[in-house]
Amino acid sequence: MQFNNNHITTVHMIVVMQKSATKEMANHVLQTIENHGLRGEAMFGDQRTAIGVIGDKNKLDEGNLSRLPGVKEILLVSKPYKKVSREYKPENSIVKVGNVEFGNKKPVIIAGPCGVESEEQIITIAKGVKQLGAEMLRGGAFKPRTSPYSFQGMQEDGLKLLAQARKETGLPIVTELISIEHIPLFEKYDIDMIQLGARNMQNFDLIKKAAKTGRPILLKRGMSATVEEFLLAAEYILNEGNKNVVLCERGIRTFEQSTRNLLDLNSLALIKEISHLPIIADPSHAAGRYDLVAPLALGALATGANGIIVEVHNKPDEALSDGKQSLTFDSFREMMEQLRTMHILNGNN
Ligand code: PEP
Ligand code: MN
Repeated sequence: MQFNNNHITTVHMIVVMQKSATKEMANHVLQTIENHGLRGEAMFGDQRTAIGVIGDKNKLDEGNLSRLPGVKEILLVSKPYKKVSREYKPENSIVKVGNVEFGNKKPVIIAGPCGVESEEQIITIAKGVKQLGAEMLRGGAFKPRTSPYSFQGMQEDGLKLLAQARKETGLPIVTELISIEHIPLFEKYDIDMIQLGARNMQNFDLIKKAAKTGRPILLKRGMSATVEEFLLAAEYILNEGNKNVVLCERGIRTFEQSTRNLLDLNSLALIKEISHLPIIADPSHAAGRYDLVAPLALGALATGANGIIVEVHNKPDEALSDGKQSLTFDSFREMMEQLRTMHILNGNN
């Protein structure tokens, strides 16, 4: 059997149009690409228009395209990830979740418990974190636990309670999807943002089906995933036509055992450079202990993170999961004050 690569849909070339190029010129380039049996995908950005060329590399020479009116330059994409790269789209992407915007200068603070545990717990926490400045509510209803004997989440009841918390506070909700079977429930409760967790970063079927819902996705880095693997996982989502992806650096595994994970600020800084997607940090799952959460949050925002997702609990000592790393309202308030101070110093608020 011969391998047939007709189905391959990678962008191998990007046609960058001149700033002054008209829409007709861009359409002419698209037409030329199609006439050669390839597919063109235009990105009309604020700074420039770029057209990705998709299909068999040998069908069209870059030299021919470069002669067309309005073409500034042709970039040959050498990296395995394409649509997530700044080569493809130089300006920062803004991802909207309700009225919240990721990718602007103002970082987004997402706060809430690791898991939804009861009506009283989630409503108390939602109101508490809102009052202290959080813009979104987190909380797992389906928990991917390391041990089968640990609390697995309230399942559908958890989603229902999150929707109730949203109704009472106006905070958009983000919650983790662990199985394609649950997608109809995520639709039913109109979950604002779907979290794909570290353990599922390379569960490609789940990623693709989540992307197809069209809902914004919070993609967490796998605990042993390289930057390239992380960006390729995001590429799957963009390939499904869903551009609303927010990345999340949540710490990686290293030889160091004294904290839960290592918050990889190197990668965060690098990703800001090579990708246009917003990226936030999760200091809670990186630290694994509440006393290190604020310094890691400060470090991540100073590095350029577009936000923070942080675990907060009204009674951390009674939490059914991740109590050890959860902030109390008081320590969350303190962290928010520190973040505000830092932003004034940086002049970016
Ligand atoms: C979580 O956010 O509660 C979680 C399970 O995170 P991660 O997938 O990063 O471990
Ligand atoms: Mn957790």
